[in-house]
Amino acid sequence: MKRSHLLLAVIGIAALALFPVGVHNPYYIHLVETIMIYAIVLFGLDIVVGYTGQVSLGHAGLFGVGAYTAGVLVLKLGASIWLTVPAAILITAGFGALLALPALRVSGPYLAMVTLAFGTIIQILINEMSFLTEGPLGIKLEKPDLFGHKLDEREFYWVVLVLMVLALVVVHRVLRSHLGRAFEALRGSPVASDCMGVSVYRYKVYAFVISAGFAGLAGNLYAYSEQYISPNTYNFELTVLFLLAVIMGGRKSRIGSLVGATIIVLLPKLLDDIEMFRYVSVALAVLVAVSAVVGVRRGKSTAQQMAIPVVGTLLLAGLSFKLQSMTDWRLSIFGVITLFVVYYLQDGIVGFVRNALNLKQTSVADQQAAIGVVRGDAVGTAAGGNASPELLKASGVLMQFGGLKALNNVDLVIKRGSIHGLIGPNGSGKSTMMNVLTGIYQPTAGSVAFAGQSVVGRTSSDIALSGIARTFQNVQLFGEMTALQNVQVGLHHTFASNLFDVALHTPRYMRESAGAASRALGLLQFVGLSDLAFEEARNLPYGKQRLLEIARALALDPQLLLLDEPAAGLTAPDIKELIAIIRKIREHGVTVILIEHHMDVVMNLCDTVSVLDFGQKIAEGMPAQVQADPKVIEAYLGGTA
Ligand code: ADP
Ligand code: MG
Repeated sequence: MKRSHLLLAVIGIAALALFPVGVHNPYYIHLVETIMIYAIVLFGLDIVVGYTGQVSLGHAGLFGVGAYTAGVLVLKLGASIWLTVPAAILITAGFGALLALPALRVSGPYLAMVTLAFGTIIQILINEMSFLTEGPLGIKLEKPDLFGHKLDEREFYWVVLVLMVLALVVVHRVLRSHLGRAFEALRGSPVASDCMGVSVYRYKVYAFVISAGFAGLAGNLYAYSEQYISPNTYNFELTVLFLLAVIMGGRKSRIGSLVGATIIVLLPKLLDDIEMFRYVSVALAVLVAVSAVVGVRRGKSTAQQMAIPVVGTLLLAGLSFKLQSMTDWRLSIFGVITLFVVYYLQDGIVGFVRNALNLKQTSVADQQAAIGVVRGDAVGTAAGGNASPELLKASGVLMQFGGLKALNNVDLVIKRGSIHGLIGPNGSGKSTMMNVLTGIYQPTAGSVAFAGQSVVGRTSSDIALSGIARTFQNVQLFGEMTALQNVQVGLHHTFASNLFDVALHTPRYMRESAGAASRALGLLQFVGLSDLAFEEARNLPYGKQRLLEIARALALDPQLLLLDEPAAGLTAPDIKELIAIIRKIREHGVTVILIEHHMDVVMNLCDTVSVLDFGQKIAEGMPAQVQADPKVIEAYLGGTA
């Protein structure tokens, strides 16, 4: 962690710990306690919403499962908090899996609806299963005992604080690990994740289950905190509030979760009291205005971008002095604030301040420190000396889209250790072939065998792990992640660590993590990108993005590398560099299929060239031979020229 962040965290935690010492009013203690409990939910929800980019409207339901696990265990068994905490986490994680396994087969609005239905069902079940949950009557419980001593309001507050800090540490570690990178990658580019051996479906489910565990812990604490639970707490409104809190606070940020939790706890109170509302809206307006001025001065944001947030918050502050009472306006103001945030503060409050002040999310020094110094030979040497000379054999491949035969009875044999060119006019089916080889498309007919094993019918991530890596014609990087992290996603397969290794930082995890980091740096060096390791991928120049995709693909330790127009959009010096890199890759024993329009690149590199036209293979042979073939010349002349 960056030192200034750590300092800030320590000060924040100390302030929270001392709060009940200074403030004796139990109302305020309870208020801050609730904020911390909601923050735990939001840490987890942010994994799903912020990192994997999925919507969940089921988290109030999961929160309810956690609360009722505590309630029922205390009511029926007189269980202690030592039992209810782990039970709530595990049982809620189980419910999370139950929800995620079917729900995550769909996405977008469908996913929102399925999760919403789940939340409703949970509420109905709690209501109906009176033999367990006491139904609509609810369950009363007392503050828990700890070491034979019954906790009072203040002592329980500290228990919540300790568990929130633990949750914070765990979530932080998970998100910085290979698991967190997988979550973030599948949002950045699902297709690239799958092709890097990171199964999108599997990691979506995983994220959901971990997230549910946090909701369970929070629900448990909530039950003790309120000392009474009843079904209608865990309703639609709460689930929407959770989602809003993540968005308002700022996704992909723990501070954002804390800010979001504070907002959803305080906002309803705030909207009850006109005096308070005035103070806060003025403070907000000042904060936004100051960030905007600083941002514009530093040239990090333009006056136009900042105009609407500034004017909006000023208007809100002005309005607060116009209004005599809040009661009639509560809902409207709440709605306006929500719309405002969703439209103009898409990165949330924390993101807005961060942008305006140009604070970088991850510090370079910090990341470099985490990496260590060892750098071995980053590119593995592909195995298979005495294996058959044919690495890949596709026979009679037919790929039909409606009436269009994008590939029509294509045979392709790729020799081990060769660079095999695949050329043809635009729309001739080259990329389609690559998508068939990597499991993105299932061929209508025909067979594909890679290293003697059939590829057809297997998932992209499975095929990737068996040794086929690729780049994409339209660059598919994980844009919000750094160059280094992009490559580290490719190294996901080198991790055997599980959630517990990550949470506890076991020696195994530390070893794997350091190994992956140094290999990733080595791969970046291999393609000449070491200087840009800590730059976000989306900020790299186009040519560098293509090279980064190659480095990421090599991280898979592939036997076969598919390059889809790697020279497209590159400058002449970049193309030279690319040619040298592809040569070096072959020297490491990696077989390459190269789709390319630049004839000089093809002539320079390829041992064999196959030519496609309208989905059919029209020629094949040595480059010079193919180039002179009248059929090939005609295809190109008849195509684009
Ligand atoms: P190339 O890479 O050789 O330029 P493609 O393989 O991308 O060509 O496309 C071959 C043909 O298949 C084109 O006519 C394209 O429109 C069509 N095609 C590719 N993918 C799909 C798809 N998912 N659905 C429908 N048509 C597709
Ligand atoms: Mg193409």
